[in-house]
Amino acid sequence: MIIVMRHTCGAEQIKKIVEFVEAAGLKTQVSKGEERTVIGLIGDKTKIDRSLVENMPEVDEIIEVSKPYKRAAREMHPDDTVIVLENGLKIGGKNTPVVMAGPCTVENWEILIEVAEAVKSAGAAVLRGGAWKPRTSPYAFQGLGEEGLKLLARAREKTGLPVVSELMDAKDLPLFLRYPVDIIQIGARNMQNFSLLKELGRIDKPVLLKRGLSATIEEWLMSAEYILAGGNSKVILCERGIRTIEKYTRNTLDLSAVPVIKKMSHLPIIIDPSHAVGHWDYVPAMSKAAVVSGADGLIIEVHSNPEKAACDGGQCLKPKLFSALMRDIKALAEYR
Ligand code: PEP
Ligand code: MN
Repeated sequence: MIIVMRHTCGAEQIKKIVEFVEAAGLKTQVSKGEERTVIGLIGDKTKIDRSLVENMPEVDEIIEVSKPYKRAAREMHPDDTVIVLENGLKIGGKNTPVVMAGPCTVENWEILIEVAEAVKSAGAAVLRGGAWKPRTSPYAFQGLGEEGLKLLARAREKTGLPVVSELMDAKDLPLFLRYPVDIIQIGARNMQNFSLLKELGRIDKPVLLKRGLSATIEEWLMSAEYILAGGNSKVILCERGIRTIEKYTRNTLDLSAVPVIKKMSHLPIIIDPSHAVGHWDYVPAMSKAAVVSGADGLIIEVHSNPEKAACDGGQCLKPKLFSALMRDIKALAEYR
């Protein structure tokens, strides 16, 4: 249930309603939008008298939210959520799409810094690189672990680019906070690792929540809800392709998720075309389509020598192609 306040209401009147609701044992979430302030109610709504609230002079109307996710719902927060990184970079809302780029995994310092500098000069705003890798085979390269975070932190320092990296196990969270990692990625395979999501609810760091391989948009938003319910409002959604009958691409990029998420939720959504299509030559087309669809950003795999990459070489763009793509992206972003 959402209480929409009258336009004329000030802080005192909002406080009065919040106290009334909380006295009944419910939790509230106040969202002050440009147009109006709404108070979201979370908990057992039968504990308050709906008609009493409806008739309070401060209240404009009451809206029922039937969706299972509440904090992630657009009704609860009519304005777009904008996530601001430590360096001031803004993700979401009317801001220009943010491009995150870098290798699939951190391999060594030479490759990492070469790619980081290349993507930076092409216009990327965030450096990606996995230190822990979720691999189908236990015999495949599993990532450098803490050494990978160390190298990322060094590249962050040298280039000034914030970094995004995947957390697979809650026990490593203190390391992510210490190095630091600016955006903590939760990979597709962990989208429903609820104990991990609860841990992320307790921190105040941006989380990039990838859509599960066969998750519906509602299930994905329910996972975001776990993080929001814990008190961390900095969730960025990432569509990275879902599993379908199609075999010519690694996954099927569900670009329709962009307008659907924009309607259902206030959270920013970015697109990962690399893991979606799985082939470098399809990445530019889908990146451009993503920008035009209204996505708040992209996360793209780039490698200076894809043939020798430890992981996902076939879907990595070489820096030169990435640069050309960035020029197209910039031009398209202006037409949104
Ligand atoms: C990744 O981005 O490195 C990754 C493993 O992606 P996903 O979880 O989408 O497969
Ligand atoms: Mn990868």
